Amino acid sequence: MSNIRGRFAPTPSGLMHVGNAWAALLAWLQIRSNNGQFVLRMEDIDGPRCRPELAGQALADLRWLGLDWDEGPDVGGPHSPYTQSERIPFYEEALDKLLACDKLYPCFCSRAELLAVASAPHGLSSEGPAYAGTCRHLTLEQQRERREAKTPSLRFKVDETRAITYEDGIAGTMRFPPGVGGDFVVRRADGIISYQLAVVIDDAAMNMTDVLRGADLMDSTPRQLLLYEALGLPAPRFAHVPLLMGEDGKRLAKRHGDTSIAGLKEAGVGPERIIGWLAFLAGQTDRFEPIAATELIGYFDQGRIPNEPITISETLMKQLFY
Ligand code: GLU
Repeated sequence: MSNIRGRFAPTPSGLMHVGNAWAALLAWLQIRSNNGQFVLRMEDIDGPRCRPELAGQALADLRWLGLDWDEGPDVGGPHSPYTQSERIPFYEEALDKLLACDKLYPCFCSRAELLAVASAPHGLSSEGPAYAGTCRHLTLEQQRERREAKTPSLRFKVDETRAITYEDGIAGTMRFPPGVGGDFVVRRADGIISYQLAVVIDDAAMNMTDVLRGADLMDSTPRQLLLYEALGLPAPRFAHVPLLMGEDGKRLAKRHGDTSIAGLKEAGVGPERIIGWLAFLAGQTDRFEPIAATELIGYFDQGRIPNEPITISETLMKQLFY
């Protein structure tokens, strides 16, 4: 057993679809081909959007596809709990640390005020417009006054002078300009901890050495790197796999057909067919043929994963179904 550790971290806010299975398979292969440990973590931190039955369904779908994990909400492990809604005290502790070293400030901006600056430059595509820093320099007195009218969110102060660079295992050298998307929320006004903070605390607590995930989260990486640094935690290696796109250039979704794992199963598409199709798209096999996930372990080569979004043409989509 090597000390390589990776994870798949689904958000149970919808049915798992081929795009999720794609990231799950590649994260799993990266770890299994290195004889490492694979962790399943349920990212249900945004309570109102998540449903427990979808969490159970996600685990069932992954197992049906032939993926397994050494630690997770259903099998337990040394870093329990593996469900974010049960890990709130860890996030609160991190918030206290960040507050103590003056890295956070309360933000009283309303949604309307935030939208008003929506055209501000340097936003991150997946992260929305850059925050203009409106509340960063409020005096303690101003903060006190505003607290009487409104519960604030908490924002992390991003250093505006330093560019962020990191080496992505698939995309290569990534550079983000100073200020990367502006100061970001780590706790919302409704008390919900942000994805950015929870994911960093969990990946560090669970000793992740490698994070392989969809390229939609590439823009989150600089923010997460800043959090690792501010908390004095070691950051994992990152690798972002390209997104699967429809022919219209939009991310594969319901409008391109029902590609939920449950829907495919219902349509009689077997797990080995789905895995074979994904492995072919990922450059891991020369042609499309059904294959068990475990059979791919010995051949996995991260260097063969394409570094451009993959368009699922109608022909490719048909291949999956028939
Ligand atoms: N929970 C996130 C999602 O489903 C993934 C988080 C991550 O891999 O960092 O999009």
